[in-house]
Formats: sequence, C-alpha cells, structure tokens
Amino acid sequence: MDEVSAAQSTTVLRDSQFARDLPEMAVAWRAAEAPEPRLLAINEPLAAQLGIDATWLASPAGLRLLVGAEVPEGVTPVAQAYSGHQFGGYTPRLGDGRALLLGELTDADGRRRDLHLKGSGRTPFARGGDGLAAVGPMLREYVVSESMHALGIPTTRALAVVATGAEVWRETALPGAVLARVASSHLRVGSFQYAAASGDLDLVRRLADHAIARHYPAAADAEQPYLALFDAVVAAQAALVARWMLVGFIHGVMNTDNMTISGETIDYGPCAFMEAYDPATVYSSIDHAGRYAYANQPIVAQWNLARFAETLLPLISEDQQRAVEIAVASLGKFTVAYDAAWGSGMRAKLGVAADVDDATVTSLADDLLAQLAQSRVDYTSFFRQLAAAARGDAEPARGLFVDLAGFDAWLTRWRALHPDADAMDRVNPVYIPRNHLVEEALAAATSGDVGPLHRLLEAIASPFDERPDFDRYATPAPDDFGPYQTFCGT
Ligand code: AMP
Ligand code: MG
Repeated sequence: MDEVSAAQSTTVLRDSQFARDLPEMAVAWRAAEAPEPRLLAINEPLAAQLGIDATWLASPAGLRLLVGAEVPEGVTPVAQAYSGHQFGGYTPRLGDGRALLLGELTDADGRRRDLHLKGSGRTPFARGGDGLAAVGPMLREYVVSESMHALGIPTTRALAVVATGAEVWRETALPGAVLARVASSHLRVGSFQYAAASGDLDLVRRLADHAIARHYPAAADAEQPYLALFDAVVAAQAALVARWMLVGFIHGVMNTDNMTISGETIDYGPCAFMEAYDPATVYSSIDHAGRYAYANQPIVAQWNLARFAETLLPLISEDQQRAVEIAVASLGKFTVAYDAAWGSGMRAKLGVAADVDDATVTSLADDLLAQLAQSRVDYTSFFRQLAAAARGDAEPARGLFVDLAGFDAWLTRWRALHPDADAMDRVNPVYIPRNHLVEEALAAATSGDVGPLHRLLEAIASPFDERPDFDRYATPAPDDFGPYQTFCGT
C-alpha cells in the first residue's frame, strides 16, 4: 500500500468491535480477486461524512479498498454468522455468504459505522452460492437506499459500487460488482437467533450487551437492560415500518436475517415502491404467497420481533413463564407505536393540523385509501396533486377517480380541516425510484452507460424539490411497462 492510501485508510478504518466482542460469530476472511475494478458510482456526501477523501476513494488505491483487495494493516475483515427465518422457515446457518464486514469507521459526528462489502466472493457461509453479485442488483441497492436516506428514512447507505471486471453467471453472463455499504451496524434479528441456537447463554448476553452499547446505551441503565433493549428495537422497527408504509415502500424479503437491531432498513433485494395503491401489492418473484405484500409488512415485522424476543427470554427472567408474559406485553407495544407513527405521518401527508383529533384523521385516511385502491391511483403523485387541490386546483386529483362523487364528498370533509399545502409538499415526495426508471438505469449501466443512473440519482437525491427538468421522474410507469417483478438472491 502506498503512502497516500495508507494514510487515507489507516486513519479511518479499524477492526470491528463485533469481531472483538463476538469472535464465535466472526470468521476472518478475505475478498475474492477483482480482475479489473472500475468505479460505477460513488457517494461523495457520504464519503465526506465518513472523513474519507472521495478523490482518493476513486483512485486505484481507493478502489482496491472498495473491493476488499487491500485493507489497512491490522484490519481483519470478517464474515458474520447469523441464522434466519426465511419466508417463515428457519435456517440455522446463513451468515455473510457473499459479504464481508471490512471494519469500522467513526463518522464526522463521532458515530461508529460499519464498512461492509457485498458481492466480494464466497465465504464459509456461501452454501451453494457463488459469492458474487451482478452490477444491476448492487446499483439497485445503491439507488433505493439513497432514496430512502433522502426521504429521511433510517437505512444502511451505499458508499460505492465498483464493477469487478469479472463475469457473474445468472440466467446469462452479467458483469460483476461489489457494493460498499455503510451501516450503524449489521446486527440482525438473525444474529440473535444464531447466538440463541448455539445454546450458549453467555454468547447471547455478550451479543445483547454489544447491541446495547452500540445502539441503545440508555438501556444499560434500565432496571432490566435486556427488556429495555427489546423495547427499544420494537419502537425502532415500529417507527421504521410506519415510514415504509407512508412512502409506499415494499421491502420484499423481510426475513429475520434482513431485519436490523438498529432500526435501519437493510438488504435491498426484490424491493420496490408501489405505484397504483393496492394493499396486496407484491413485486418479488419468489413471494408466491404474498407473505411480504405491502399491507403485511407491519404484521411481519411484529412476527420477526417475536422471534427476537424468543432469543432474549432467558435474559429477561429465569422463570420462563414469567419471561414469556413480560415479552408478550412488550411486543404488544409494537401496534401502539406503529399506529401512532403511521397516524402522525398520515396527518402530515394530508396537511392536517395537530389540533384535529386522531380519530378524524384516521377515518379520513381510511376512506381515502379505500378510494385510492378502488381507482388504482398512483400513490406518490396523488399526494402532490392533493396539495394542488388544497391550493384551489382540484381537477388533476379529481381526474384520477372513477367514483367522482365519492371523491368529491371526501374532498369536502378534508377541506373543512383547512389543509396546509406547503406542509404537505415538505413530506410528500415528488421523486421516488420508480420501477421503470430503475430498470432503465440498471440496464444501461449493465451495458456500460451510467448516464441514466446518475440522472436518476440526481432526481431522488432531493425528493421534495420539484424540478421541471425531472418531469419524467415524477410520473408513473407507462402502461406498456407491464406488471413489475423483482428478483431475489441475484
Ligand atoms: P438475502 O435474502 O439476499 O439477504 O440472502 C440470504 C442468504 O443467502 C444470506 O446468508 C446471503 O449471504 C446468502 N446469499 C445470497 N446470495 C448469495 C450468493 N450469490 N452467494 C453466496 N451466498 C449468497
Ligand atoms: Mg440478507
């Protein structure tokens, strides 16, 4: 490693506390070789926040770090072990099959962040997989996670996507890529399941202590720290999933290994934003039963949290019956927290002031959503058109409904509450990563043109700021785009 790169990376990257605290759950490993690294996307604002010089990161030495070919001396990348319920079925040994935790950084705000690679080659957890990732899916994660971040929704972030120069075989040969991902941690519900399944209660306790220290330090001072940890994760996930629902985000693969302890959205696979409002929307090609359909997400989140609770029971009380009672009571707070977060979010989307009572807002929202579903209205653009209605121009919104009398009656009730159009525009995005535009950008990048990708990234980086140049990014897919499907594990 030359002097500049050594200076640039040793100052920022350290060994992970995870590997130090939980050696049983970390396997030291190195990335596969990337024959010809080529930068496809780099997140300059995030690099700055991490104290990394983006120019250096884009240099050959920086790219070697971003594909894991070279890490600072003394830093040992690890593959993390975890288990998980996938579509309801338990797999005891998942883990990072194609990913590595490179190490940890401290960002400009003094917060500890993981630097993680995805698509960096087979690890001891790879099972039948090739350990690789194609350009398209890694860029999808980049685009969608950046959109979520810009929308103010907790998420892991993408620092860069580097094409490796190697081929990845899916149905056909595709260019391979590595995503460099930054997260407040990679602790998952599945991490706790792994520790609990080992039968080593001390390991579960160390993992819980590690999670508390990292994410919920106040829990350490609680009367029952492990219960406080559980309560904090319940609250974080309830708030997170409410945010997903409010923007029409469908994660697509809410397995317990894809649910964080931090409350950040993680593992963007077959995810997508809903266009026409329909609670039953599913995009993932492998989700035949609709387990992870839009409307099921809060229910699944609570189910996943029940699996988390099970891992903590012996730490909550030695009396198992008592532990279960306590955990069930805590889990019950999910619905209350979720309803509160969703209700206040929907109030904001409708521009309704705080002095209007909750029941009025909820009934107004429920009626509206039923009408949006009936008329298959584009969920995102509708709320901007509704703000226009608040300003006096109701025609664009009215034109979307088949039952015009029904919508007019709704409009009268809503207008009586004096909605604030400017406040609505501050919370209702104009730009989300629409499926047809994501596909267009990924296809172009796969065949060597990153132009559409960068244009899309520009649109979604300022989601609330309407810009005439970006008109096509604000409109739903044309009819000939057809039913959309996303693919997992690609
Ligand atoms: P996911 O549902 O995509 O988050 O992945 C579930 C599990 O499969 C994780 O343990 C991944 O590390 C593993 N996995 C997914 N794709 C691959 C691959 N191409 N090679 C090896 N492991 C993989
Ligand atoms: Mg995953």
